[in-house]
Amino acid sequence: MSQESVADEVRRRRTFAIISHPDAGKTTLTEKVLLFAGAIQIAGSVKARKASRHAASDWMEIEKQRGISVASSVMQIEYQDCVINLLDTPGHQDFSEDTYRVLTAVDAALMVIDGANGVEPQTLRLLEVCRARQTPIITFINKFDREVKQPLDLIAEVESHLKMDAVPLTWPVGMGKAFGGVFDIRHDRMRLFRAGRNKFDESDQAFIEGLDNPEIGNRFNESWVQALDEIELIREASPTLDRQAFLDGRQTPVLFGSAINNFGVQEVLDTLVEMAPSPGPRKALERTVEPDEPKFTGVVFKVQANMDPAHRDRVAFVRVSSGRFTRGMKLRVSRTGKDIRPNNVVSFLSQRRELVEDAVAGDIIGIPNHGILHLGDVLTEGETLHFTGLPFFAPELFQAVEVKDPLRTKQLRVGLTQLGEEGAIQVFRPEAAGGAMLLGAVGVLQFEVVAHRLKTEYGVEARMMPSRYSLARWVSAEDSKELRKFLDANMANIAYDVVDAPAFLASSVAQLRVAQERYPQIQFHTMREHG
Ligand code: GDP
Repeated sequence: MSQESVADEVRRRRTFAIISHPDAGKTTLTEKVLLFAGAIQIAGSVKARKASRHAASDWMEIEKQRGISVASSVMQIEYQDCVINLLDTPGHQDFSEDTYRVLTAVDAALMVIDGANGVEPQTLRLLEVCRARQTPIITFINKFDREVKQPLDLIAEVESHLKMDAVPLTWPVGMGKAFGGVFDIRHDRMRLFRAGRNKFDESDQAFIEGLDNPEIGNRFNESWVQALDEIELIREASPTLDRQAFLDGRQTPVLFGSAINNFGVQEVLDTLVEMAPSPGPRKALERTVEPDEPKFTGVVFKVQANMDPAHRDRVAFVRVSSGRFTRGMKLRVSRTGKDIRPNNVVSFLSQRRELVEDAVAGDIIGIPNHGILHLGDVLTEGETLHFTGLPFFAPELFQAVEVKDPLRTKQLRVGLTQLGEEGAIQVFRPEAAGGAMLLGAVGVLQFEVVAHRLKTEYGVEARMMPSRYSLARWVSAEDSKELRKFLDANMANIAYDVVDAPAFLASSVAQLRVAQERYPQIQFHTMREHG
């Protein structure tokens, strides 16, 4: 592939993730998107993956589903002229850390909102991550086949939570039993609602052209009177769609529909293709990496244990940042300076299920390995590069962990180090001698997963015990002497994470506040960026 063709290929790429509060309709929309693009066989596995969420309390079930989740973690589809990479995010909130990291690998996000519930708590944190990275967001307001909130109120909610202007591209006419369809404001036509279609057929589509077409009023009466009023209001009050404002995270285009009825899905895809950016430059500490540079670079943003726990197989998910990956090529891991030559690299083409032949910026490849690739690792053709920005959030739940059989202490350390590097849980080593290792999690299910994996993958029976800590902050200071003084004076509350970054652990907000007041020269961070 010549450099021009790399650039052409990059321009065709759209890499995004769907984010939502559970039950807003992410799985349903994902399925319909795949169905729409003709990747039907994958639609089944999306459902299968979903099943694992309902069995979330039963880790064995999740374990069984893992193979499926590796396969459907990344779905690549072709739509119009574009190659779309859709990255899945975990359904269960206990694994939300994974979601934050997935968001570092996308160029845009599609936010699904349940029209009856509006913007829900779990979406808020995801939005924070998007905002920190200026990820452009397209909003889809779902479930208009039900009685939902008033569309104007939903728009106001989106604006206040996203802290950006919402620009409706379509507008709903009625809702619930009286749902007539959506009016496409830019194309000046109404798409009529048809319920429950499970395939896409041109003949299913019905439109009425023109805002002033009396046919709409005749058919939809009061719903149309209300919609027309609202559309006029929106036209006066909302800013016009501005692509740059969208790319900068100042505007979000909003679409309405009903995912389960396949309604509004085409508009979502069209908007994505039209508005979402193709892969852009990525900042490394050393320099800025352009997507169409000839040499390959990529970053590991997710590590997932594979099907067979006994073999400690894991797949490192790499987002290509530049150049072109070809099978059999030699790659250098920047962290260790060691070369690897992965040959059974997995691609995620849903239409053409085959090993990856080549991948360009925006694409995701999966490299099976036995633990040599860590989260945040940068792969290059020889250059040493460090990308920033893989977020780790301060955990909110803690447990101390000890091994039942003291002879297996070493295995416990190895297991915890590896699981920590994989991002399954955060592992803290206390500064004070003799203290038990501490596990920090965002969701309680993470503890179960770790206990189970320690046993099956490392042969360690671990005992989890309550911990007196309830929050952690990574600490830093301009002056390293000040930091040292702080660490020495607070030894009982200091612990180090897997990359030896020091953290202050507190048992209450009050205790943290006291420390912050007493040591103004110390910075306390809720998030640590890898690299
Ligand atoms: P997720 O948790 O965000 O992945 O949500 P799902 O896609 O699993 O959807 C949650 C529930 O909402 C399921 O029972 C879906 O059938 C239902 N659902 C999804 N989209 C719609 C819709 O457009 N209308 C209605 N009435 N229900 C929907």
